[in-house]
Amino acid sequence: MCGASLYDVSPVGTEAGGVAHRRRMERKVIRLPRESLHIAMFSVHSSPLGRIGNRDTGGMSVYIRQLALEMEKRGHRVDIFTRRQEADVPDMVRLDSRVRLIHLTAGPVRPLSPLDVFPLLPDFLKALERFKNDQDLFYHLIHSHYWLSGRLGAWAAPRWNVPHLFTFHTVGALKNLYCQKDRTEPLRLRMEHQLVKEVDRIIAATQMEKEHLTRHHGISPCRIGVVPCGVDLERFRPLEKRMCRAHLGLRAGEFVIVYVGRLARLKRIDRIIRALAHLRSDDGIRLMIVGGDGRLTADEIALRRLTQRLRVQDRVTFVGRVEQEKLPVFYNAADVLVLPSEYESFGLVGLEALACGLPVVATRVGGLTTILQEEVNGHLLNDGNPLSIARAIAKLRGTKGLPVFSPQSLRDSIREYSWSNIAAAVLQEYEMAMDAIPGLWGTQSAVEMSAL
Ligand code: UDP
Repeated sequence: MCGASLYDVSPVGTEAGGVAHRRRMERKVIRLPRESLHIAMFSVHSSPLGRIGNRDTGGMSVYIRQLALEMEKRGHRVDIFTRRQEADVPDMVRLDSRVRLIHLTAGPVRPLSPLDVFPLLPDFLKALERFKNDQDLFYHLIHSHYWLSGRLGAWAAPRWNVPHLFTFHTVGALKNLYCQKDRTEPLRLRMEHQLVKEVDRIIAATQMEKEHLTRHHGISPCRIGVVPCGVDLERFRPLEKRMCRAHLGLRAGEFVIVYVGRLARLKRIDRIIRALAHLRSDDGIRLMIVGGDGRLTADEIALRRLTQRLRVQDRVTFVGRVEQEKLPVFYNAADVLVLPSEYESFGLVGLEALACGLPVVATRVGGLTTILQEEVNGHLLNDGNPLSIARAIAKLRGTKGLPVFSPQSLRDSIREYSWSNIAAAVLQEYEMAMDAIPGLWGTQSAVEMSAL
């Protein structure tokens, strides 16, 4: 019988763990205190300190950073390993006293696409092991993020004799079921399918992801825990709307729709622009699009052209990328967040908006499917039809300035998603992976993590 994770609502399965962990059960036992874990996180292709909001850096970077910082608060140590993309970043950056971001060199020092990073993984592994050996480091477990890092973790875990936990962030095959145009590369699909057999435990962001993995990849449900993403309730909180609007130069009486996130095609921002064209504009309506690369990409050019074609360009503001600490002003200045994505692995911005007291209109994909409730905190759309989006917006707008949902009740609806709760659930997953290897936990540290 396998234990269920905190957020798991599926029936509990009976099968024991994967091949990799059965193999490791026979290996040498390392006894360590449960209180202070030394965690190696892998985020090879994108740095958690990258420019969040641009094309390739989004929710995953926020997740890794917040999770690591939360682990630190609980007395654990985290080393996050990423590929060096810029020459002038230090080898090691401390995010907190016990959280380090380590830049390792593998291949050219510039941003590369995931497919170009793939052949560099053996070099990255060499650099990783050199660093670990030079510094005489020991880790209790590996938590890898995204398929490239999963591949690396699957090589490193048996060599280090530690459990390997893996978070997809996006499952290529699942995304393909939703996105007709933005297809996942066959190499990645093959790698993901192989990977699920090698990792010890998978941390899925949603129940739907878990179901997909069990049904289509044949993984035992025992090896998958469900832990949603979290939100920083300190940073994202209700602020005075009037002040926020004044700060952004928005008119007090205007109805303001906000989109926040990467300007990627699967986010379907075009649907909001099309919806806007269906809405009355006489008493003022504005769409703020927050996110972008700081340069005009083909996707942004297409969106700008669409605003002109539909003659709504005067009602749309392309704000560009905003540092996360400034985002609360944008959420608080708005009347609704609209997220009409074709596919979402979770949809952190929905949580952030709700934490600020802003209702959310979203398509029925990702984590918001379980978070959004009609008449409680927003509207879930069965389809991404612009007319359906326009109707949902009109319903909120029809209240003549009186909010349908009180900011406090919206915030209350997602309080349980604090990073502290999420980190507790992830820790439980770590424990389950370690408990599956008898004798791994103990009272004495065999090798201390040095140089921290
Ligand atoms: N974000 C940001 N600045 C921007 C746009 C987005 O900091 O200009 C952050 C936002 O706060 C959120 C993340 O990027 O935490 C996007 O995460 P989400 O899960 O919504 O989307 P993903 O990028 O994972 O598809």
